[in-house]
Amino acid sequence: MVAKKPRVVIVGAGVAGLTAAHRLCAAGGDRFEVTVVEASARAGGRVLTSEFAGHRVEMGATWVQGIDGSPVYALARDAGALGDPDLLPYERMDGFPDRVLTVAEGGEVIDAERVARPIEELYRGMMDAARAGEASGGGGVEAYLRRGLRAYQALRAGGGVGKEQEEVEDALLAMHINRERTDTSADDLGDLDLAAEGEYRDFPGEHVTVPGGYSRAVEHLVAALPQGTVRLGLRLRRLDWGEAPARLHFADGAPALAADHVILTVSLGVLKASLGKDASAAGGIVFDPPLPQFKREAVARLGFGVVNKLFMELEPVMPAAGPEGGGGGGVNDDEDRPPPDFPFLHMAFRGHAPAAKVPWWMRGTESICPVHAGSSVALAWFAGREAAHLESLPDDEVVRGVQATLDSFLPAPRGRSRWRVKRIKRSRWATDPLFLGSYSYVAVGSSGEDLDRMAEPLPRPGAPGADECRVLFTGEATHRTHYSTTHAAYLSGAREAERLLQRYR
Ligand SMILES: Cc1cc2nc3c(=O)[nH]c(=O)nc-3n(C[C@H](O)[C@H](O)[C@H](O)COP(=O)(O)OP(=O)(O)OC[C@H]3O[C@@H](n4cnc5c(N)ncnc54)[C@H](O)[C@@H]3O)c2cc1C
Repeated sequence: MVAKKPRVVIVGAGVAGLTAAHRLCAAGGDRFEVTVVEASARAGGRVLTSEFAGHRVEMGATWVQGIDGSPVYALARDAGALGDPDLLPYERMDGFPDRVLTVAEGGEVIDAERVARPIEELYRGMMDAARAGEASGGGGVEAYLRRGLRAYQALRAGGGVGKEQEEVEDALLAMHINRERTDTSADDLGDLDLAAEGEYRDFPGEHVTVPGGYSRAVEHLVAALPQGTVRLGLRLRRLDWGEAPARLHFADGAPALAADHVILTVSLGVLKASLGKDASAAGGIVFDPPLPQFKREAVARLGFGVVNKLFMELEPVMPAAGPEGGGGGGVNDDEDRPPPDFPFLHMAFRGHAPAAKVPWWMRGTESICPVHAGSSVALAWFAGREAAHLESLPDDEVVRGVQATLDSFLPAPRGRSRWRVKRIKRSRWATDPLFLGSYSYVAVGSSGEDLDRMAEPLPRPGAPGADECRVLFTGEATHRTHYSTTHAAYLSGAREAERLLQRYR
C-alpha cells in the first residue's frame, strides 16, 4: 500500500509562498502533495515588474537590500535577472545618484555644503545610531530626530545663523522624515518604535535593482515547481482549522480543499482585515475557530503602512520664439542650448511659500528623481496618508499636482513651466484587496516579539493538536529582523518549509 502523502496548501504565490513550495518540492523529494492557491491572476504578490515609457519599472519591491549573503540576490542571479535581456533601461541602472539638487519651495537652491549636507549627515548619523541600538530617549523615531536637530541648532547657537536658516533646516529634516516614512511605511514616524529599529537588519553590501526585473526571479521559482502546483484565481474566504484536516473554502464557489498543513502567506493588511466582525466583507479571511488572542494582538499591534510609487514621463518645455526672437522662458532662455537633464530634485517644503497650488499630498514626498541619469521618466515615492490619497485621485489631478510642484521648485521666468508632465503610472497597494497596504513596521506599543508571535504555528504549543502544525505563518511580517523586505519573505518561506521537513524527517 502506498502511504498517503501529507497535503500542504500554501495560500499566496508571493515570494514567501513560492519559496516554501520550492523548498518542499525540492528538499522534500516526493514526500508532500503541494498546492499553492493564489487569488489573483498572477504570481509575485508585492513583486510586480512593469513597463512605462520604454523603461522597465518596479511597481512594488525595487531594491535588493544588500547583496552579500542575500538569498534574493542569489535567486535573481540564478534566474538570469542580473542581466537585462531586452536591453530596456531600468530603475537606478546607474546606482545611487551622487549629485542631488536640493531646492526650497519657491525655487531657491539650498547651499549643499553649508546647509543641506550637514542636515543630511545629522539625519543619517542619528538613524544609523538608532539602527545600531544606540538611540536614547525612547518613544517614536520622529521625536528622536527632532530632538537631534534642536540639539544641533542649540550647540551652534553662538555661531548665530539666522531664523531663516533654521526654518530651512526644519524643512530639510521634514524632507528626510518623508524619506524615512517611505523606507519604513510608517505614516507618522512618531508611531515607529525606536527600539525595534535597533533590531532591523539589511544584508551587507550594495543595494541594487534587478536589471531583468524583480518578477523574473519569481517566474524562476514558479518554473521550478511541478506543473500545476500553482493554482491562480483561488481566493481563500474561510479557513476551518479547528480539527484535522483543515478545510479551505474559496470565493466564487470554487471547490473546497482539505489540507494537513496550511501555510498562510497573506499580507499583514489582509490579516488585519480578518480580525473584524465582518472579515469577509473587509477583504479578510474568516478563521474558524477565530485566531487565538496572542495572534490577534500581534496582528493588531504591528504596523502595516502604505507606500506607493508614482512614475511620470517628463518633457522639457522648449522656449517659444517670441516676437523679439527671444526664448519664451522655457528650460533655458538661450534657445541654442539643449535642455538640461531633469535634476535629482530633493524638495524642502516650507509650507508658506507663494506656490500654494502645490497640493498637500505632494508635500509628503522627499524627491522627484529621474529613474537613471538623463532619463525622461522620473519617480516620486509616497507614504501614509499621501500615498493612500494618491490612489483615490484621477490621473489629471495627479498630473496637475505634480506640475504645480515642478513649477514651484524649478520655476521658469514669467510663470511658465520648465518641465511638462506627459503621463503618469502609479501603484495602488492600499486599495488592492489582496494586500491592503505595502509593508510592515514595528509600531510604538508593539515590539520584535510580536513579529515572532506572527511566526508561531497553530495550534500553539501546549494546546491540543500542537504537534500537528496545522496552520503555519510566513510572509515578510513574520521575520523579526528583516521584516518588510523580499528577503524576509524568502527566509520566512524557507523557515516554514523547514518546519515541515523536520516534522516528517
Ligand atoms: C511599493 C513597494 C516597494 C517595495 N520595495 C521593496 C524593496 O525595495 N526591497 C524589498 O526587499 N522589499 C520591498 N517591498 C516589500 C516586498 O515587496 C514584500 O516584503 C514582499 O514581496 C512580500 O512577499 P510576501 O510573499 O510576504 O507577501 P505577498 O507578496 O503579499 O504575497 C502574498 C500573496 O497572497 C495573495 N493573497 C492575498 N489574499 C489571498 C487570499 N485570500 N487567497 C489567496 N491568495 C491571497 C496575494 O495576492 C499575494 O500574491 C516593497 C513593497 C512595496 C509595495
